[in-house]
Amino acid sequence: MFQDSVVALLMLALVGTYAQLDDIISNQTVLTVNRTEEITLVLPPSSGNLEIYALPVGQGDCTIIQCPNGNLVVNDCGSSGGNRVTPQQIQAFLGNRIGDVVAIFITHPDRDHFNYLYSIPWTTSVQKVIIGATLQDYNRPSSQFAMIYNWLVNFNNAGELFTVSGGASCIGTCTVPVGLDFCNNLNINFNILAANVGTTSNQKSIVMKITSGTFTVLSSGDMEGTASTTIAGTLQGQLSSVVYKMSHHGASRIANSPTWLMPIAPRVAFASSGYNFGNCRHPRCDTINRLRNLNTLVAAPPHTIYCGNSGPPTQLPGFTQHIYETSPTSNMICFLNYTSTFLFNQACYNVTVLEPSVGLGDDECPVQLEGGAPVMAAHYTAIIVVAFLLALIN
Ligand SMILES: [Zn+2]
Repeated sequence: MFQDSVVALLMLALVGTYAQLDDIISNQTVLTVNRTEEITLVLPPSSGNLEIYALPVGQGDCTIIQCPNGNLVVNDCGSSGGNRVTPQQIQAFLGNRIGDVVAIFITHPDRDHFNYLYSIPWTTSVQKVIIGATLQDYNRPSSQFAMIYNWLVNFNNAGELFTVSGGASCIGTCTVPVGLDFCNNLNINFNILAANVGTTSNQKSIVMKITSGTFTVLSSGDMEGTASTTIAGTLQGQLSSVVYKMSHHGASRIANSPTWLMPIAPRVAFASSGYNFGNCRHPRCDTINRLRNLNTLVAAPPHTIYCGNSGPPTQLPGFTQHIYETSPTSNMICFLNYTSTFLFNQACYNVTVLEPSVGLGDDECPVQLEGGAPVMAAHYTAIIVVAFLLALIN
């Protein structure tokens, strides 16, 4: 079975015929395994095109970009747990190609974007680590932050750690004191459009547009709220992209507002999200509806995705627009791949035994729904007031 999955991925990667933008070729494979740990992911050799791989890390982000020359760039790698592949499976995915990784981005200091990085034995090929926010923003009193901070300090000591615009807010004028020509190819650009714009961790996310001819991919970490409105107002059409990795895993209350989505006008969109944690599920149905209302998505074969607002996740069957996610049903996880020849592959795994949902308890599900902080604060305030009144009565 596992050999079959390897063969399928290799075959899909070889279907590299050129297609027009409105004619994205979709390939889908579904295999069944008992547990997530049994999934064997293999990075195919370069097809000679720019390739984007979204690994099924559940509620988190781990995107690998393969250059035509085989160089690799990692854009975030972390998970909130739950039904997901592990750092060891990602290491196995890279295999001996781990020595081709030339740069690693961390969009912002949230654990579901970095907590796999320090568990993978990167080689000296990694000479550029570029972070959203400042090094000190990763110096926080928790074990996972301690791990990433020490990992970053080592790169800093080697002169290989870089912030965007010195950690200062930038929109359209961002600078990094090192070349971003990771593919050694003048036709492929990694353009940092914005970073460190707001005050929260999410709003400091690096917003990056990767361009290969007419193929463009927008990655914006967990960008949301007023920072996203300011960026959209300033950059407008510069945000326009063929492929959009939904910000904040497809959240909707303060991320992926219509103001943010409109200038992006994606032809295809995907969410790196996970199996539902209780009543919390990304992507939000509201985000999916906003994307559909833009009328910019291209057609896709009928497929099923799950979304959630509040309450149990909703299944949306028979979807024929190009919105995919790394966990399209409650027991399926998918490995997504886009190439600059407008080829889309989705290798999915039905997992019969779901992993336990653990969650991280930071700004992600399940501990706190988006916009849940004030509600929880109100609850705590009410509890404190009641306790105080009881103390007075006694
Ligand atoms: Zn996140």
